[in-house]
Amino acid sequence: MLLSLIVPCYNEEKNIRPFYERCADVLQELSGQTELVFIDDGSRDKTVDELRALCANSAFFVRVVSLSRNFGKDAAILAGMRVAQGEFCAILDADLQQDPAYLIPMLETLQNDPLLDGVAAFQARRKEGRVMRFFKDSFYRLMSRMTKTEFHSGASDFRLLRRNVVDAVLSLPEKSRFSKGIFSWVGFHITYMPYEVNERKRGKSKWGFWRLLRYGIDGLVAFSDKPLIFSSVIGFLLFVISIVMLLVVVIKTILFGDPVAGFPTLASLILLGAGIQLFCLGIIGRYLAKVYEETKNRPVYLVRETFDSDNKK
Ligand code: UDP
Ligand code: MG
Repeated sequence: MLLSLIVPCYNEEKNIRPFYERCADVLQELSGQTELVFIDDGSRDKTVDELRALCANSAFFVRVVSLSRNFGKDAAILAGMRVAQGEFCAILDADLQQDPAYLIPMLETLQNDPLLDGVAAFQARRKEGRVMRFFKDSFYRLMSRMTKTEFHSGASDFRLLRRNVVDAVLSLPEKSRFSKGIFSWVGFHITYMPYEVNERKRGKSKWGFWRLLRYGIDGLVAFSDKPLIFSSVIGFLLFVISIVMLLVVVIKTILFGDPVAGFPTLASLILLGAGIQLFCLGIIGRYLAKVYEETKNRPVYLVRETFDSDNKK
């Protein structure tokens, strides 16, 4: 198998057909050497039925892994990478926001340059709102700085990877699979290619602002211990400040006999201190939660059933 397309699907019943048709259109010449790997991430709609129908009648080899519930896109990507057989593996969404036609130049790039291990596509012109873009850009900058690995702004999970990179990603044992971080962390020679992101074909995005924020914090915690250092630094700074303040109060009392005053100041200082302590406890808590998750050693996902176009089930 030359090429595997890994496609995570969560409630994408209306997109499966158009996605397949687009692939059939643009990857015609590769149809004999290409497999479509769909991971149904616990969809509640007719996604699995659509995939079953596709298995019965497809120009490509189709492989389907259906997870027992919704485990999230990263788990689905992992499941797909585990079963993909291709020498080159592409990851793309089912909603046609990422046109499979880009795979042709991506594949050519890799085939023509044996020194390259992967091509990651990034959005040339961003189509999200300004606020969202600001947050995403800041996040990537923060991540790059905190993890000392490169996070390309606008790069999604849309990428084509050579087998060696796929094997490297699969060799990481961690349960918390922040794909963007993992792809950056493993390194290799990756080149970035601009692409135009399309509007979602049908259905709606599953990533609201809060889900993205939680996802971002999880990613940060999984890939950097800098927030812990940050909380220690705040603690130390406050300690120094309080020593200075103490000295000032003592000296003022000794020299000028100044009576202790300023209850409001005291109250706000206590509140400030308590706030910062809770904030830092929260940071430590996130790490503790991650350790807890990892030590439980549960599988990243559970498979309900698998089928493919050979043993149509
Ligand atoms: N997806 C998934 N599991 C989830 C959420 C999303 O497998 O829990 C899939 C979804 O079906 C789609 C891709 O991940 O193929 C990207 O999701 P979406 O289009 O909602 O995200 P966006 O493009 O808005 O970032
Ligand atoms: Mg999408």
